[in-house]
Amino acid sequence: MRVSRLMLVTLRDDPAEAEITSHKLLLRAGYMRRLAPGIFAYLPLLWRVLQKVSAIVREEMAAVDALETLLPQLQPADLWRRSGRWDGYTAGEGIMFHLVDRQERSLGLGPTHEEVVTELAADLLRSYRQLPVCLYQIQTKFRDEIRPRFGLMRGREFIMKDAYSFHADEACLRRTYAAMDGAYRRIFERCGLRAVAVEADSGAIGGSASQEFMVTAEAGEDLILASPDGRYAANQERAVSLPAAAVPLEVSACHPLATPAQKSIEDLCTAHGFDATQTLKVLLLLARFAAAPPRGVLVCLRGDQQLNDVKLANAVTARCADAGALLEIVPLLADHLWDTVPFGFLGPHLEDPALRQGEKRLAEVPLLRLADPSAADLEAFVCGANRSDEHLVGARWGELCPVPEVVDLRAAQPGDRCLHDPSQRLEAARGIEVGHIFQLGRKYSEALEARFTNEAGSEEPLWMGCYGIGVSRLAQAAVEQHHDADGIRWPVAIAPYTVIIVIASSQDPVQVALAEELYGQLLQAGIDVLLDDRPERAGVKFKDADLIGIPWRLVVGRGAAERKVELVDRSGDTGKRELGADAALEHLRGLPGASP
Ligand code: ATP
Ligand code: MG
Repeated sequence: MRVSRLMLVTLRDDPAEAEITSHKLLLRAGYMRRLAPGIFAYLPLLWRVLQKVSAIVREEMAAVDALETLLPQLQPADLWRRSGRWDGYTAGEGIMFHLVDRQERSLGLGPTHEEVVTELAADLLRSYRQLPVCLYQIQTKFRDEIRPRFGLMRGREFIMKDAYSFHADEACLRRTYAAMDGAYRRIFERCGLRAVAVEADSGAIGGSASQEFMVTAEAGEDLILASPDGRYAANQERAVSLPAAAVPLEVSACHPLATPAQKSIEDLCTAHGFDATQTLKVLLLLARFAAAPPRGVLVCLRGDQQLNDVKLANAVTARCADAGALLEIVPLLADHLWDTVPFGFLGPHLEDPALRQGEKRLAEVPLLRLADPSAADLEAFVCGANRSDEHLVGARWGELCPVPEVVDLRAAQPGDRCLHDPSQRLEAARGIEVGHIFQLGRKYSEALEARFTNEAGSEEPLWMGCYGIGVSRLAQAAVEQHHDADGIRWPVAIAPYTVIIVIASSQDPVQVALAEELYGQLLQAGIDVLLDDRPERAGVKFKDADLIGIPWRLVVGRGAAERKVELVDRSGDTGKRELGADAALEHLRGLPGASP
């Protein structure tokens, strides 16, 4: 391709809309343009990158016997109602774009395809003899993200590879899951990415086990916690650890303590010399549901610990199955409520009636009471007295109130001791989630009645797995990992072009002739080559070549008369060298991807 015909517009300055390096570089180097928040046009250069990533994905999917397909993006609401996900995906913080058609039927724009593919399976898969099967597609997904940002990292319209597998039993699902794990590792490696696999929360997709693949980068939105010995790594949303040991509270009997205006644990500890591990943090929250009135949730943690919102949402969902989708959990604040609730001085013995008074009273359902083990394990503690300006010192479970239901709710932190080996301490790294694989089990097949006849002749729901890769996010993650001060340094396997020939002076017929000759030869060898034939100054062309990040630059300049050229390795570390045109050709023909 000739650069003069490429519609290439590069920008000298960072666009104001871009926050992170890869986003800036893709805009500056003419790879994409933004149409609206989270909505981008993929320009020809970027489309080539996406095609190369997709080609690698296709090869690795074929290697694990997955079949390519293309499923509808417009999806009937009824289907999503039957799986129980319509409300959760459309109300509250739901991310599904939805619309009503001319016949007044509700539809959603596919954010993911479990429903559609399970409906197909219900129709087509009847017998164990047809199993296992795996379908995948590479397609635009729509998600009305609450905070679209960082360019392709969190788009509202983006390209995903999603695969779905169906099995006669769980063991078979596990085998495919393991095969996909291998395929994913190969895909990221072939794309030139450093990615790590971490235990993950399954989120709104659901199912039992799930694992994410994270490209490690400072700009990543996810926090990864990992043990130095490499045996444990998890997304913080999911991570578990041992909290630091608590300082025992030496008091014989429980007694009240005046704590005027000491509403925070910090104030309380400063004023009275307690250690935060001796205190109880009591949080009062409100969970809102699609199909039931809101419910109060009382959470106890040890005072030095933080609540993990994802773990809490999972715990609440599991305990309020009849309430429909969980829409949100928000802290209850003084201005939401009544004088009867002494915010800042809450204790675990807060009684249900305290929440039933006043105008905005909660439904007549008891509070959902949960305690993290860090709180439940305390023998004696300091907690609010449920009276303003007063705490209790030396309170004990059993005496004060029963221990609430114990469930892991605390956020693991860097520096925490690991469960598998307490001498190991969790270390933090930031990551960009580029892939996520799930063992779904029978969640969707049960809901949508996708059943097959097993070997014994009886009917049962299919076992399912699903496997996603953010293709467009991956492309930008590659830039985040591979760039320098001058621009992008694409890994060769996914670079839009492998070689760029730069004519130093387009006025010089000798240079032009040699450049055209080399261009022809490289094209013939099947190498993706650009010819920068623009009538620009050499400096401008070099700068652009660096910015767009083509792995090899072949400069045809003053040495052209002696058939001498300069070869620059942008992605590797071999730097610049001068050599004969034929030697350069030979070198480039030997690169992976060239036809022999
Ligand atoms: P996130 O936690 O980042 O919102 P997710 O867990 O909701 O992502 P999945 O449902 O697991 O995403 O989707 C599969 C893959 O699609 C993700 O691993 C990610 O690479 C990609 N992806 C998800 N949301 C977006 C988005 N808004 N923009 C670009 N890629 C995305
Ligand atoms: Mg995910």
